[in-house]
Amino acid sequence: MFPLFQEFPPLRFHPIFRSYLWGGRRLATDLNKNLPEEGIWAESWEIVDHPQAQSVVAEGPWRDWSLGKLMETYPGSIVGPNATIVQDSKSLRFPLLLKYLDCQNVLSVQVHPDDAYGATLSSPDLGKTEAWVILARSPGARVYAGLRPGITKQTLREAIATGRTEECLHSFEPRVGDCIFIPAGTVHALGAGLLVAEIQQASDCTFRLFDWNRVGQDGKPRPLHIEQALEVIDFERGPVQPIRFSTDRISTSEDGADVASEVLVRCDKFCLERFRQPGLIRFAPGTFRIVTVPHGAARLESALGAIELAKGESALIPFSCSSTSLVVQQDSSVLVASQGIELNEQRNAS
Ligand SMILES: [Zn+2]
Repeated sequence: MFPLFQEFPPLRFHPIFRSYLWGGRRLATDLNKNLPEEGIWAESWEIVDHPQAQSVVAEGPWRDWSLGKLMETYPGSIVGPNATIVQDSKSLRFPLLLKYLDCQNVLSVQVHPDDAYGATLSSPDLGKTEAWVILARSPGARVYAGLRPGITKQTLREAIATGRTEECLHSFEPRVGDCIFIPAGTVHALGAGLLVAEIQQASDCTFRLFDWNRVGQDGKPRPLHIEQALEVIDFERGPVQPIRFSTDRISTSEDGADVASEVLVRCDKFCLERFRQPGLIRFAPGTFRIVTVPHGAARLESALGAIELAKGESALIPFSCSSTSLVVQQDSSVLVASQGIELNEQRNAS
């Protein structure tokens, strides 16, 4: 199934900027993104392989290769044999999508299906489980995550019909650094005034329940998908609380200091860890990793080369990349997402 094995260095891609009405300019001001001079920009897609968008390698021997082409040609070298990958009609796709979001206005209230439901759609897609890390917030900024206790399909249906959807939603003011985990089936919306890093399954499958009575660029309300949303909502899920972090494991760095890994999410779709202490972390082989640096700076080293990551930059460490380590600089925060391996097998203390 995976005939070609190729050793890769860490790969850096060109970000893909998306303009939506709820965006702003903070991707440039807060994350140093090289946005076009004009316009409202909502999202920077850092690493994506999806029919909607393709990341393209920015430098080095694989420059100009799209992630889709890399996955077509060297799937086993990019994601390894243990990763769960979606097989659509044509090819294997890279399973995760990493993005930054500048939410100047509240996003629509929505829900994503799981993989089983996504597979039944007319254009089959993955389900979507996602996780947010709050990077900055304006005073009073809220997230909507999960339903209030006791909300049933019937009460939610009635609330939507009578314009009272918001009353059914659990919401809170997140702190900077909070992680909010949104498994498929969880009703959610990011509120106004948030800058967020998001890791998600590479899916474009969204059902909108409520759009705050807004109209789109064409002056019309955007379509809602209320029946599909009601079908896929997990009514057992209840209110979602932020993950303030648990230090799962202390790794010993090169110089003997302890480097704490904060495990934010560990689910069957991805693991998300954060490193906020300076030091060197050696990664054991066995999975691919996505790395991004929302604050400060970091360096990725490998047998085939090293790359510096400045604030707002991201990279993919392919499965076949050997001898990789991460150097976290002072006053920095680094997010690392991986898949298909138990975390406690993931890293060798030096
Ligand atoms: Zn979502």
